[in-house]
Amino acid sequence: MGNGFMGKILRVNLTKGSISEERIPEDKMRKYLGGVGIATSYLYEEVPAGVDPLGADNKLIFMTGPLTGTTSASAARYSVVAKSPLTGIWGHGNSGGNFGPMLKRSGYDGIIIEGVSPKPVYLEIADGKATLKDAGHLWGKSVNETEDIIQKGAVPKPITASIGQAGENLVRYSAIMNNSHRAVGRCGLGAVMGSKKLKAVVCSGKTKIELHDSEEFKKISKKQIGYLNESVLKVGFEAFGTNLVADMVNARGGYPTLNWQKGVFDQIEEMNGQAMTEKVLVKELACFGCPIACGRGTAIKEGKWAGRSGEGPEYETTNMFGACCGIADMNAVTMANYLCNEYGLDTISAGSCIAFAMECFQKGILTKEMTGGIDIKFGDVDIIVDLVEKIAKREGIGDLLAEGTKVMAEKLGGGSSAFAMNVKGLELPAYDPRAAKICGLGYVTANRGGDHITGFIEAPTFIDAPILIVEESSIEDPFNATPQEATILMDMENALTSLDALGGCKFMGALLKAEDLVDLIRSGTGWTDFSVDDFRKCGERIYNLGRVYCNREGIRRKDDTLPDRLMKEPLPEGPAEGMVLDTETLEMLKDAYYNYRGWDLATGIPTLAKLKELGLDELIEDVKKMQ
Ligand code: SF4
Repeated sequence: MGNGFMGKILRVNLTKGSISEERIPEDKMRKYLGGVGIATSYLYEEVPAGVDPLGADNKLIFMTGPLTGTTSASAARYSVVAKSPLTGIWGHGNSGGNFGPMLKRSGYDGIIIEGVSPKPVYLEIADGKATLKDAGHLWGKSVNETEDIIQKGAVPKPITASIGQAGENLVRYSAIMNNSHRAVGRCGLGAVMGSKKLKAVVCSGKTKIELHDSEEFKKISKKQIGYLNESVLKVGFEAFGTNLVADMVNARGGYPTLNWQKGVFDQIEEMNGQAMTEKVLVKELACFGCPIACGRGTAIKEGKWAGRSGEGPEYETTNMFGACCGIADMNAVTMANYLCNEYGLDTISAGSCIAFAMECFQKGILTKEMTGGIDIKFGDVDIIVDLVEKIAKREGIGDLLAEGTKVMAEKLGGGSSAFAMNVKGLELPAYDPRAAKICGLGYVTANRGGDHITGFIEAPTFIDAPILIVEESSIEDPFNATPQEATILMDMENALTSLDALGGCKFMGALLKAEDLVDLIRSGTGWTDFSVDDFRKCGERIYNLGRVYCNREGIRRKDDTLPDRLMKEPLPEGPAEGMVLDTETLEMLKDAYYNYRGWDLATGIPTLAKLKELGLDELIEDVKKMQ
């Protein structure tokens, strides 16, 4: 009888070329659930403060959860954790497709990758046997080419997580890609993989994922798949993908336009879900075992890129390369998205860096002399495609853009940091918190930096979607935040962190209650006394562990802040006209949030009492040194 875990991980030291296996201690499983939780615990224990994110001492940790690859709905996910080269703090990315399930079928819950290989290699794991292989012939190849070469002639085809040229060239926001188009996108973990000269991890296998009570688990999963199949979310996502939300965000006046100079895009009908479906959609795609199918199989049918096909774009990508760059051309945005996937780039950061460069050019901070003679103007459809290539290859001006908006602003000066749209170095997603204040709190408290999916508070604010995984998610008036809303954000961060750790997709969190997930955990793992409170506490524990990791790297309350544009520059038009998220409101929300979290108000570090309550006693000595 099993517990959903394979029970063992691989430790691969690339400097030595050694591979070993180890058991995951049972108490780590129960304490951190899996995925992001277990991976963060290893990172905290094994990667001390101050290491170079692109050096041999950083570790890249792949980890699945106990639900990954099972019959549960939407349980395709795996996490990758490392110190981020983009932010210098906790880096986390999460992806679907079917790499996570296949990693487990190959016999392992996860992999810890250490050191730096003297030459390009890839890791092959086949039915419990892991081997490092020469990747000289793959280095310099795109993600698609790499997958094709590895899969050629192989029966059955192995599943690959790889980097493209962006990761090899250490672009600070490069992604790790699986199934060609699915990304561990955020925080530049592809650059960590590139710095280790690891081109790919390739998995195949037929090892069974053993559950405690597989019949009961199957029965519960079937019932839950039934709810998901009947949900409005499924109908909307199937029809329009995640870009379903574009009209709603624009209607609220929070749709980033022209690098966040505006919150309403006049040509939204060219870039919304409907436009995407009409112009480029070929078929809906789903991750392993997912009834929702929000993925978009697309093709460009006309114009200079006609004949190109792939997956996406998602909502965020459509906004960042679209309205944020002043572009209303779905084909150009789709092409930019394809190139990001092929080179292995995070589309949010790439689009945001280009939009930032456009505004710097508009303001004369970036000149033609500096760009090598290129005009980087808002609305130029060719330039977004050209710049993606230049970024991935670090060619010309692309070398500067490859550093991310924070470093770009430091280098360019001229007051540009006020509109470099990142928090702690991570480029912001496409929801303007001037139009929904609590989202701003979510951006400043997310452990990985400016991120929407950690707390997912955009769902109840911008799209009025209830989130069933928490008891209360309704936000009365997004324009006027109240301190009580900080507790809704915190509850969502905790519950969704647990869901991530289990290996479930965040969208399940909108449709399933914590009780539903606890039913799965009990029958899957055999932890028959596992309660809803345990579920929420696990998420809180992982969240605090991530926070202390960031604190150990120097993060304090003062770093939990937004770009000046959002705090001082009112939106010029639309429903949120005249609004900012001013310092006073943000600090009020932070006070409330830190109080609910049990964090010290002055420093933003978890208190010793909170760490004790969460069973994180092993962090106490480190935290004492920070005080
Ligand atoms: S909802 Fe979308 S991202 Fe989530 S598992 Fe399903 S297809 Fe994948």
